[in-house]
This record gives sequence, structure tokens and C-alpha cells, in this order.
Amino acid sequence: MGIPGAVNSAVSKPQGKRVLLAEPRGYCAGVDRAVETVERALEKHGAPVYVRKEIVHNRHVVETLSERGAVFVEEVDEVPEGALVVFSAHGVSPAVHEAAGTRELRTIDATCPLVTKVHQEAKRFARDDFDILLIGHEGHEEVEGTAGEAPSHVQLVDGPDSVDKVEVRDESRVVWLSQTTLSVDETMETVERLRKRFPGLQDPPSDDICYATQNRQVAVKAMAPECDLVIVVGSRNSSNSLRLVEVALDAGARTSYLVDYAKEINPAWLEGVETVGVTSGASVPEILVDGVLQFLSGEGFGTVQTVTTANETLVFALPRELRPSRRP
Ligand code: SF4
Repeated sequence: MGIPGAVNSAVSKPQGKRVLLAEPRGYCAGVDRAVETVERALEKHGAPVYVRKEIVHNRHVVETLSERGAVFVEEVDEVPEGALVVFSAHGVSPAVHEAAGTRELRTIDATCPLVTKVHQEAKRFARDDFDILLIGHEGHEEVEGTAGEAPSHVQLVDGPDSVDKVEVRDESRVVWLSQTTLSVDETMETVERLRKRFPGLQDPPSDDICYATQNRQVAVKAMAPECDLVIVVGSRNSSNSLRLVEVALDAGARTSYLVDYAKEINPAWLEGVETVGVTSGASVPEILVDGVLQFLSGEGFGTVQTVTTANETLVFALPRELRPSRRP
């Protein structure tokens, strides 16, 4: 029996314990670029390289880069004057660029180009004097960066229940934008409720929820109905990883847990389980998924079947400062 929506799955009727492995999963193009940015900066300039906030929301990545000489700080005022600082994949507001300029820091911006695209949209709609309803999670770095592009025009809408609080100046000039790593379904619910209040609400020029977030959710949805348990590898502060747990449960998985490492899996979760789904958030290196598969194999889940719903080929060029220089 195939899995609806899966383009390349060889999933047959369950015969004993098995793992369904979602594809795509793990690193997206923006995370790959951001992590490589810090690695290349360390190679080129030597340690320490300062990084404002976690370069991506993954414990293992942050710990590994710290061991290699990256120093993670919360704000640029913790960076010594004149030092090199990398801005994380989640993006920064113009105020952070200014603060870095004041301290004469050398900066490399590892903001994902798909986050930058949302910043550009915010700037453009603010220039046209729209009220911008930014759907996202309060306190998330990406939302702070995007809102900081046009603080006087942006209002945060943190899920469908926040819609009633929204006030706009002119109902004919309202647009919604969003954080890149949200649940597609929940965001659409928020948009529907916003549109009921503001029928003239404009959509973003293109999807703000990025391809990687969408693809990982589609893959989980395809396998979840067959799963007694879905294990999502990812960190607790990773928005897109948390969303995968919610999507798995909504799509029919009996249970779902988020783990950073295989050692966090409680063997009791596997009692009475025949099919375990495994996936990982966009900031998760594959080595952590391998650890989970090894653990599951030791528990009798040695059969692994891949459920593929998309093939990803997108690659982003490194920031200009780290590209190989061209010969004259
Ligand atoms: S999850 Fe999406 S927006 Fe975030 S870094 Fe990856 S590609 Fe970019």
C-alpha cells in the first residue's frame, strides 16, 4: 500500500516493527549556508568569531561550532569593538546593524535569503503606508528582525486567537506577512479569521512560509497516519521542529515527541508500537537522525522505509565576504 501524497515511497503493509523516514527532512538551504558561513569565517579569520544569537536553533550545531571557536552572544554590545560578528540565519533588524556600526564591528550577515525576502516585503508595504499584520510567534528572533524593519507599521498576530485584538488604521490598506517557519494550516486559519474582519486584506506577493518548512510538513503529513509514534529530531527553540510535532499529531500519529538526541528517547514510548515515523527540523544535521535510527534498530526497528514527498535541490551562495575571490 502506498502513502497518499508520497511520490517515491515503497511502503507495503506493516509486517512487524518498522521505521518510516520522512524525506525531505533536516538541513535546508538557509541553514546549510549559515553553518558554513561560521565554519568558513573561522577558517579565514581564525577564532574567535562572534555570532549574535544561535546561528541556527540547534543545540548540537551551536555546541560543535563553540568547540571550534565561535562565541555566541545575545547582543552586539557583548562583542569587543572592531571584532568580527556573524548575524544568524533568522535575520536582524536595522537597529542591530546600526549598533554593530557604532561599535565598528566587522559583520557577516548569514540571514537566510528567504527571511531577507520577507524583510523586503515589510519595507515595501511600510513605504506604501500599509498596516502590516505579521503572523508569527512573539519573541522569536525572526519576528523581531522583520518587525524591526518597519516598527510603526507592523503588528504581530500570534495565532488565530490574537486576531480579535488587531486594530488597523485603514481597512483598505492591510497586508499579512508571516514568519517563515510556521504551521501552514494554522497560518491559513489565522488568515481566514483576519480576512473575515478585514475583507480587503492583501496576501503577501509570494509564500512567506518557506519551501523547507512546507516540504517537511507535507512529508510528515504523508507518513503520520501510519505511525503509532513520530519522533521529530530538533531543539525545543526550533520553531519548524516544534511545528512538525503538531503536524504529526494533527495528521493522525498516535503520539509524537521532539528530541535533540537519541539518548532522550524513552524506551517506554516504543511499547506496543509497530511503526515509528522519524523526521527532523530544518536546523538538524543528519548525524543526529542517524543516531536515532541506530537506537531504534537496537530496539528491533531495523526496517527503514523512506517516504519521499519532494526532492530539494536549492542551494544559496555564501555571503559575499566569504566567496572565493575572482582572478582579475
Ligand atoms: S527554514 Fe526556511 S527560512 Fe529558515 S533558514 Fe531554512 S530555508 Fe531559510
